[in-house]
Amino acid sequence: MKMRDIHSGRAVLALGLLALSLSVQAEPLRVVSSFSILNDMVKEIGGDKVIASTIVPANGDAHAFEPRPSDAKSLANAQLLVINGLEFETWLPRLQQAAGYQGPQVVATAGITPLAFEGGHDDHADHDHDHDHDHDHDHDHDRAKEPAHAHEAGHAPQGEKEPGTHDDSHQHGSQDPHAWQSLALAQIYVRNISQGLEQADPANADYYQRRAKDYAQRIQELDDSIKARLEAVPVDKRKVITSHDAFSYMGKAYDIRFIPLVGVSSQAEPSARDIAQIVQQARREQIQAIFVENTVSAKLVEQVARETGAKVGGTLYSDALGEPGSGVDTYLGMMRSNTDQLVKALQP
Ligand SMILES: [Zn+2]
Repeated sequence: MKMRDIHSGRAVLALGLLALSLSVQAEPLRVVSSFSILNDMVKEIGGDKVIASTIVPANGDAHAFEPRPSDAKSLANAQLLVINGLEFETWLPRLQQAAGYQGPQVVATAGITPLAFEGGHDDHADHDHDHDHDHDHDHDHDRAKEPAHAHEAGHAPQGEKEPGTHDDSHQHGSQDPHAWQSLALAQIYVRNISQGLEQADPANADYYQRRAKDYAQRIQELDDSIKARLEAVPVDKRKVITSHDAFSYMGKAYDIRFIPLVGVSSQAEPSARDIAQIVQQARREQIQAIFVENTVSAKLVEQVARETGAKVGGTLYSDALGEPGSGVDTYLGMMRSNTDQLVKALQP
């Protein structure tokens, strides 16, 4: 009789543990992403097994972002953090510290060979715009082959910068972080995010893998259709001016030359001389279209459009999705919309 009691006691205990682990797994995984494009990818792959939220909101400028106390709260509560990496989220270390977040982190660009920034030093918000530089040499599509630190010459190493200054928080590295603008590279994002979800929530690993495979398929289909649509535009006409240097990866993928008014940080302000050079270049190369971006003020774009006679081609979505229901509220919707805008403005 005694033995039976012990056995049934164990059985009850085992059942209790099973119930506990089931109830833990049934709760969706709380995933916080640094910005809206990653958040959409997490939703696509995570489906109803995740509760996904973003720190930088729709139409938000991640380059100039100042985290709020509510962001620290949401990060403190997260079970997984997904970031772009390549020094895109310059505000993140301080936020992580404020939140005390020590959980797992997915770097979505891990494994990507990054492009170096155009012009390198121009991209730093050092408010010194009088130095010499040449916009013409910047648009070599083979830039990816250069060593990533090629443009670092003359720069103080990271550690020598004054910490905590306003400029410091908006500075970026020597690598271009905007890799999501290439659908081919988005496949690497998908793989990294899926792996992160599988590790954080192994019970649903099959589910995440299935959804990631389906999503990867849709990304591939869109990539193919963009290539087909751009066939309508002769390669020598594929030249546009944009606000900030966010489209190099897209340019490389589809043989389009994007000429940015400012460097990689949306916060840098070009000098009168910078603008004059771009106006000259636009006239010389008969650039047809100039685009506004959803995360950057349109003021400069309108000025250059006036001075060159180029038409304002519409809005390109660079570093953030649009509002819910806008049609550009998903990554694929945003890439489709950017293609629509470009083809409409450029086709003869
Ligand atoms: Zn950007």
